[in-house]
Amino acid sequence: MKIIVTVKQVPDTSEVRIDPKTNSLVREGVPSILNPEDRNAVETALTLKEKYGGVVTALTMGPPQAEDVLEEVIAMGVDEGILLSDRAFAGSDTLITSFILSRAVMKIGKLDLIICGRQAIDGDTAQVGPQLAGFLELPQVTYLEDISIDNESAIIKRGLEDCVEEVRVKLPALVTVLSDINQPRYPSLCNVVKACDGTLIKRWGEKELKIPGSMLGLQASPTGVKKIFEPDLSASGEIIKGDEKQMAKTLIDKLKALQVV
Ligand SMILES: Cc1cc2nc3c(=O)[nH]c(=O)nc-3n(C[C@H](O)[C@H](O)[C@H](O)COP(=O)(O)OP(=O)(O)OC[C@H]3O[C@@H](n4cnc5c(N)ncnc54)[C@H](O)[C@@H]3O)c2cc1C
Repeated sequence: MKIIVTVKQVPDTSEVRIDPKTNSLVREGVPSILNPEDRNAVETALTLKEKYGGVVTALTMGPPQAEDVLEEVIAMGVDEGILLSDRAFAGSDTLITSFILSRAVMKIGKLDLIICGRQAIDGDTAQVGPQLAGFLELPQVTYLEDISIDNESAIIKRGLEDCVEEVRVKLPALVTVLSDINQPRYPSLCNVVKACDGTLIKRWGEKELKIPGSMLGLQASPTGVKKIFEPDLSASGEIIKGDEKQMAKTLIDKLKALQVV
């Protein structure tokens, strides 16, 4: 099987702050990590490779330091990585990000399966997987919890809110995975050595993908971030006083007034 897995480098959101002057995320000094669900996507790809054979390629778009996540997934067992990095890609919204990824997939050529995380913890839109499938005109199955291959199809269990749906999809296809699907493996020493070697990573930019500059980055993006802000968590508390009965009555009256009960 030829499997492509998309991985994104994201700021560790447990440490993210917002600059109130610029309305943008403060990235300086914030550690970057591999998007958590992409780790599950990589584990899914490696498990399929172990079962059915094949090659796993990881694809990321980002600044030069995004190469770190490619090294990380190669250390987990991915065969090769491709970094899409170019100044012309900067400021791309989800549509243009998906478009650039789709052009890279086309350049890679024949494939059986693309595996994406459902959602990135910074952008949080969950749009890239479905849009990538759209650009490539591939069938897509989201919220994957389990997958097996049967001839030229995949049998997939989708985790929905109150049930599990089983679907069959003809390959090639694109899937997005949930974090419940598996427990990602740790890197092996042998693969860490391979990752450090650096020869398993290709770097492609505007020139390699042959996309006109007018179709890239901020200028081509139909959406823009208007404002970003932290919710106000400074709601003041109130202490209800009196004997037990009085306190209970006051509390119920207040909850009723707020239409909570
Ligand atoms: C400088 C800058 C300017 C930006 N400007 C805008 C803007 O004007 N308008 C706007 O809408 N957004 C903007 N963005 C956000 C950017 O569009 C998103 O980070 C990106 O499109 C991915 O969307 P997401 O994080 O919601 O991913 P999701 O759709 O939540 O990600 C789902 C999955 O898709 C894959 N994926 C997502 N992104 C990548 C990637 N880069 N490489 C490989 N795989 C990936 C991963 O597998 C991920 O788990 C900007 C970002 C930067 C850094």
